[in-house]
Amino acid sequence: MTSVDIQIRTAPSASTCSPALADDPWAIDTRPGYGPGASQADTIPGTAPRQGGLPEAYREASTDELHARIRAAKDALGDRVVVLGHFYQRDEVIQHADAVGDSFQLARAARQHPEAEAIVFCGVHFMAETADMLSGPEQAVILPNLAAGCSMADMADLDSVESCWEELTELYGTEPDADGRVPVVPVTYMNSSAALKAFCGEHGGIVCTSSNAATVLTWAFERGQRVLFFPDQHLGRNTAKAMGVPVEAMPMWNPRKVLGGNTEEDLAAARVILWHGFCSVHKRFTVDQIDRARAEHPNVRVLVHPECPMPVVDAADGSGSTDYLVKAIAAATEPTTFAIGTEINLVNRLANQYPQHTIFCLDPVVCPCSTMYRIHPGYLAWVLERLVAGEVVNRITVDERTAGHARVALERMLAATP
Ligand code: SF4
Repeated sequence: MTSVDIQIRTAPSASTCSPALADDPWAIDTRPGYGPGASQADTIPGTAPRQGGLPEAYREASTDELHARIRAAKDALGDRVVVLGHFYQRDEVIQHADAVGDSFQLARAARQHPEAEAIVFCGVHFMAETADMLSGPEQAVILPNLAAGCSMADMADLDSVESCWEELTELYGTEPDADGRVPVVPVTYMNSSAALKAFCGEHGGIVCTSSNAATVLTWAFERGQRVLFFPDQHLGRNTAKAMGVPVEAMPMWNPRKVLGGNTEEDLAAARVILWHGFCSVHKRFTVDQIDRARAEHPNVRVLVHPECPMPVVDAADGSGSTDYLVKAIAAATEPTTFAIGTEINLVNRLANQYPQHTIFCLDPVVCPCSTMYRIHPGYLAWVLERLVAGEVVNRITVDERTAGHARVALERMLAATP
C-alpha cells in the first residue's frame, strides 16, 4: 500500500496536492526540499538535516512484513523503548505508538518513561529536541527519519532572531517602565528549534503551545510592555486578538527588512510583534472552504487550529489545539457534522474513530504535512531493529548549554497557570 492510498482511504475521490505523495519517503531522501505535501514550495534551509539511504531490506519489505518486524523488535526491547506518535502521523505508524498526542503531550510523555533507554519520536525534529531536553541524560531520543523537520520552525533561525532583538533593543532600550515591565518579552511557539527556546530562556522569555498560548501571553504582558512572538504569526495574532489586542497593534516582522519592514512609530505602538512565519498545512484553509461547508451541510460545526489565518479562525465555530479538536469531537453526544481545519491524517483518523459523526477536512485537496510524511514504518522498523542489535541510529541531541537555557523557558511555561 502506498502513502497516498493510505491518506485518501476515507475520501477515494479526493485529489492530492502532489503525485509524488504516491512515492515512499525514501524515494526523496536524497533530493533537496521538504518533499511532497503542504510545505513542498517552502524554502528549506541549507543546514536542514538530511536522511541517509534506508537499507534496501526495509525499502523492499511489504507493509505486513514491516509491521511484523516492528512488533517483534518492540517485544524484544520491552520497557527499554517507548514509541511516541504525533497526531499528524500516518496510521501505519500510530498503530505502533505507546503514546499519541500533540507536541506538548508527547514532551510530557517522554518525561514519564524514565525506564526507557530509548525514546523513538515519530514526529518532527523540534519535538525530538524537546524530548531530549526533558528526558534523562542517559536516554537516547531517536527521530526515525532525520529529514522530518518542520517548515514553520525553519522560518525563524537564531541569527535572524538575534538581529531582530538587537534592533528592538536599540529602539526600545532596556529600562523597565514604572510598573517594572521590560520593553519586550520574547515568546516562542513550541514549534521552534532548541536554540530559539534557549534564546527565550536567556532573555526573560517563555515557550508556548497552541493549548496554552493565552496563558503564556498573559504571563508575558505581566512582565513586559510588549511581546516578540515567533515563529507563527497566525497563532500569535489569533491568540492576542482573542485577548483584546487590536490587530493594528500587531505589526509583522520580516527578517529580511530593516526594522522588520516597520516604521519606528509602528513599533513604538506595538503590543505584539509577529514573526513572518506560518504553517503551510494550516495556511491552506480559507473562508471560502468554510462557506462551502456551510452551504452543503447547514448544521455543520467548523473547528479549526489557531495556526490557520485570522479570517478562517474568525469564520469558524471554534478554534484550538489538536487536543481541543480531538476533545470537541469526543464530547459530541449527538450525531454531528464536523468540518475540521487541520492536518489530514488526524482528520481521517477521527472520521474512522467516530463513525456516528460525519467528519471531513475543510480542504478538499489531500495535502499532508510534508515533514510528518517523512516518517514511514520502514524507518521505524530500521531504528528499532538497530536498537535490538545494540546500535542507536538517528539520535537527536541538544548541547547542554542550549538545553540549560531552553529548559528555563520550558519550565516557565509549565509553571504558568491560567
Ligand atoms: S503541520 Fe505545520 S507546524 Fe506542524 S510539523 Fe507540519 S509544517 Fe510544522
